Amino acid sequence: MIDFKEVLNEHGIAPSLQRIKILEFLKKNRIHPTADMIYRALVDEIPTLSKTTVYNTLKALTEKSIIMELSLFENEVRYEYNTTPHIHFKCVKCKRIYDISKSFECLKNKEIEGHKILEHHINLKGICKECR
Ligand SMILES: [Zn+2]
Ligand SMILES: [Zn+2]
Repeated sequence: MIDFKEVLNEHGIAPSLQRIKILEFLKKNRIHPTADMIYRALVDEIPTLSKTTVYNTLKALTEKSIIMELSLFENEVRYEYNTTPHIHFKCVKCKRIYDISKSFECLKNKEIEGHKILEHHINLKGICKECR
């Protein structure tokens, strides 16, 4: 179990309850939510939460590389807890985004054919196993 308070402290972010909850949500729900989805999921539990707080928190967490900001298939920005490089697969029917764990050795090496990799965005689109 990750101590999110410590994670935030280590990165120089004051560990407010709202920030901890947002981080916890991203760690537990690997659904690549939008800021709006995060807000809607947490506002019942934290009535004082505002959309601005969610946006600002996501921005701060992204800057510290604790989470990743993903521009997947639409213009919509989604977020996920930072993990090792992986492929995203989006189902055109149910709109779910799956993490594909097939690893790419070249991404782990952070280098491909002499080029240095800073970011990775490998996005596949199709019909998921549930919808087939
Ligand atoms: Zn599907
Ligand atoms: Zn992912």
